Amino acid sequence: GLNVTNHIVSTSDAKSMLKPRAKFSHKGIFGHALLVGGSKGKMGAAILSAKACLRAGVGLLTVHLPAQGLEIMQTALPEAMCSVSGENDFIADVPDLSMYSAIGVGPGLGLEKQTQNTLKLLIQNSNYPLVIDADALNILAENKTWLAFLPSESILTPHPKEFERLVGKWDCDEERLELQKQFAIKQQVIVVLKGANTSIALPNGYVYFNATGNSGMATAGSGDVLTGIITSFLAQGYSPKESAILGVYLHGLAGDVAKENLTEYAMIASDIIDAIPKAYGWIN
Ligand code: AMP
Ligand code: MG
Repeated sequence: GLNVTNHIVSTSDAKSMLKPRAKFSHKGIFGHALLVGGSKGKMGAAILSAKACLRAGVGLLTVHLPAQGLEIMQTALPEAMCSVSGENDFIADVPDLSMYSAIGVGPGLGLEKQTQNTLKLLIQNSNYPLVIDADALNILAENKTWLAFLPSESILTPHPKEFERLVGKWDCDEERLELQKQFAIKQQVIVVLKGANTSIALPNGYVYFNATGNSGMATAGSGDVLTGIITSFLAQGYSPKESAILGVYLHGLAGDVAKENLTEYAMIASDIIDAIPKAYGWIN
């Protein structure tokens, strides 16, 4: 039955998932994330994602970006290391993946042919789950045979339009939920379908509903922040399931903090990042 496998994420679920940071820890313990994103005119998406990844607690972060994005990133975010791809305006090669504990791809990526090929190589060469968002989802929608190469338990974070490009149209919410579940089961991935009450479908068909967040989060870059947060949790050693559920919860809670400070009319994506510290305080 439908209801048995559906679950609403509570504050105590989030509390029980969040791990304490040991007193004698060092940055190596909290993982090294790789974010792959950015292209000419879309570096902001990569910056938002990167900043959110650091704020969510990762030990080290490298951003793989096109050459023209290097100074932009290093100026905006001194905490991030950078790996520069061959082409000036877009990403055209996969970096050495051996030193990373998690990979997120998509924010600001663009749809260049060489970038598309890079994504194909990335999903074929990754030994562990990826976080796939934004243009990376759009590229997969254009090349559906590549879905078969996705490492199992990869986390896909489409908004409804991106999900429609992947699976086609639906008539009602029930049908959309069924498409989401079936996609998660068939591809053995986690599908985070974003919106008010984001739903998270697991490879076993179970679905978790998130209740944090507000309409102020319907703003440019909001989803890129989520990608950074989920990648951060994966890199820190949380399971893909925990990373998706806790990431969506924290992101929404940070949105609620930002609403309290700034109203849902005025908040922008950077404010969600700035609100992550207080949101962590609300969970603890
Ligand atoms: P994107 O469209 O990729 O920028 O992602 C938008 C982000 O904002 C997702 O995490 C959504 O869940 C969130 N969001 C958008 N609209 C709402 C809403 N009305 N209520 C709560 N969260 C929202
Ligand atoms: Mg997006």
